[in-house]
Amino acid sequence: MEEKMMQVRNDHPRRSQKRRRKRFPWGDIVATLLVVAICAYVFLSFGEKTPDEETPVRGTSAPTTTQAQDNALADLLAENTQPTASDIDWNLVLVNYENAIPENYEINLVEVAGGEKVDERIYDPLMEMLEAAKEGNWDQLPMVVSGYRTQAKQQKLFQDKVAKYQSEGHSKSEAEELAKQWVAVPGYSEHQAGLAVDINGATYDLYFWLQENSYKYGFIFRYPGSKTEITGVAEEVWHYRYVGVEAATEMYEKGLCLEEYLAERQGEA
Ligand SMILES: [Zn+2]
Repeated sequence: MEEKMMQVRNDHPRRSQKRRRKRFPWGDIVATLLVVAICAYVFLSFGEKTPDEETPVRGTSAPTTTQAQDNALADLLAENTQPTASDIDWNLVLVNYENAIPENYEINLVEVAGGEKVDERIYDPLMEMLEAAKEGNWDQLPMVVSGYRTQAKQQKLFQDKVAKYQSEGHSKSEAEELAKQWVAVPGYSEHQAGLAVDINGATYDLYFWLQENSYKYGFIFRYPGSKTEITGVAEEVWHYRYVGVEAATEMYEKGLCLEEYLAERQGEA
């Protein structure tokens, strides 16, 4: 467009100089009008094109701005609600013989002394509890002998248990039923959530200490013999589950297992 205008302006002086000598400069006027007309055309062309060019730009840029604002708002809302949601949810996730670990459950794992891994969110309270538990364990640090388990690991544990019962003469279905009392079916173990630990000590007294003190650190004695009917698991003195101090304290004081506690909560809600 600019090139065209330059040509018009360059042509114009030459033509008008030629014609001015002979007669009234109609040519000049016509030429001027032509230039004006061309300029007007050019201007209008630009005028037409500018919105055309802007529209797609606006079309792409405007939603981006809106989306950015939406995202910022979503982030803000998430930031405001996350602590509450996570406080209630992640630590109280129910995994038992009826409730599989949620699909696509995500965990950030961290290694504890001895090589086992746990959800990083329970690392600090776990370490505090184990440190404090020394007083019930001949001043030795209790060991986490099983923390997070992959599906494959749980599968192997279960199959090994089934094989053991089969080797003792039980049928496969009998062996599976017996195994379920001791090892969770793959997908149904709290260990797969990274929120449970099996703890070993130098003395059995450690387990009495844990039963009386674990709630202070947010852990519960998950499978007491008195709750087997509800949990579906025979007593496991070594298995502790993190639920957070608030929930653990209430369960300890009321003598509730996790299933009972959650049912009570649901009733209140
Ligand atoms: Zn366990």
